[in-house]
Amino acid sequence: MATAAVITGCSTKTDSGATPKASALGAATPSASMSAPPATPSAALARLLEGNARWVKGSLQRPNQSVGRREAVDEEQDPYGVVVSCIDSRVPPEMVFDTGIGDLFAIRTGGQVVAPVVTGSIEYGPVTSGTPLILVLGHQRCGAVKAAYKALKERKPLPGDLQSIAEAVRPAYDVIAKAKHADPVDAMIRVHARQTATGLRRDPALAPLVKKGGLAVVSAYYSLDTGRVEVLDGAPAA
Ligand SMILES: [Zn+2]
Repeated sequence: MATAAVITGCSTKTDSGATPKASALGAATPSASMSAPPATPSAALARLLEGNARWVKGSLQRPNQSVGRREAVDEEQDPYGVVVSCIDSRVPPEMVFDTGIGDLFAIRTGGQVVAPVVTGSIEYGPVTSGTPLILVLGHQRCGAVKAAYKALKERKPLPGDLQSIAEAVRPAYDVIAKAKHADPVDAMIRVHARQTATGLRRDPALAPLVKKGGLAVVSAYYSLDTGRVEVLDGAPAA
């Protein structure tokens, strides 16, 4: 992605005046021979959850991973979802949702925390090309949230910029610290995913799209034990 494409607004699906280079950075529709991506928030969520069901069962289709697909999207892309997930090596979004290339904008940070440069990457698809879904995916036994929980509870800062991750999840810690939890880290993981989605719904660039119904921001939780993604909140009406 190029900042210039965003600034000049030349990356929308309908901008027929865009140069091939510029449209490649945006999201013009790929070859008609490929199956159309879901266009609505509910259809996009359904597509992801269908893929996750295949992942859980071990019956992967590995769609859109062929040479033909690679060639079909080499100039243009039109992903139907933005997944904001953790760097955890066990939670690669394209695998747990059984997707291929050109399907997802995947944004990964420790504990899927957001900050302005991350939020910009999340905004890119919805703002420039109408990507209909943002899924914030927390996960079971998240090491980043666990380390942050310990650092905040014991008031011992983490080394280097790891502490900035702890600070980013402090609002979730503050919520779970008010009550007793059998598994406080797991509770914090879930609260943090919900809070992140709530924050993105209020983002000045995203809120108007959410209001119009063209974008849903969903929080979810991935089980390392089963591979299943559980929707926490924000699922759009069908
Ligand atoms: Zn994690």
